[in-house]
Amino acid sequence: MSSAACIFCKIVKGDIPSFKLFESEKVLAFLDIQPLSRGHALVIPKFHGVKLTDIPDEDLTEILPVAKRIAIASGAENFNILQNNGRIAHQFVDHVHFHMIPKPNETEGLGVQWPMQ
Ligand code: IMP
Repeated sequence: MSSAACIFCKIVKGDIPSFKLFESEKVLAFLDIQPLSRGHALVIPKFHGVKLTDIPDEDLTEILPVAKRIAIASGAENFNILQNNGRIAHQFVDHVHFHMIPKPNETEGLGVQWPMQ
């Protein structure tokens, strides 16, 4: 299921370019266009749903393992995984997405290794 008006569905279809980090039948991960830090990535189910509660369980099972692999590949010792639902909760793209945001400290370089193998 996809939505014609959804920007992330367009990324899934390839109608909008993205820097892909990982792709499988149910999941896509790509770099955030306005990164909060180097390596800021988004992991999304290909199934279109606005909020986490809209997504079937079977479309979610891969998400955390993929976010974990991306965190490892980023080389960051410190990182946030977060997911917003609804405007008041700071969701601005209406397609479920998990952020993986590396948090480099002042002395730590990020050994980002994209794309993931
Ligand atoms: P939210 O506030 O959790 O909805 O975050 C949406 C995220 O999507 C923001 O960090 C945006 O920078 C990111 N974003 C919006 N459009 C694009 C795009 O076309 N490509 C990659 N990231 C995007």
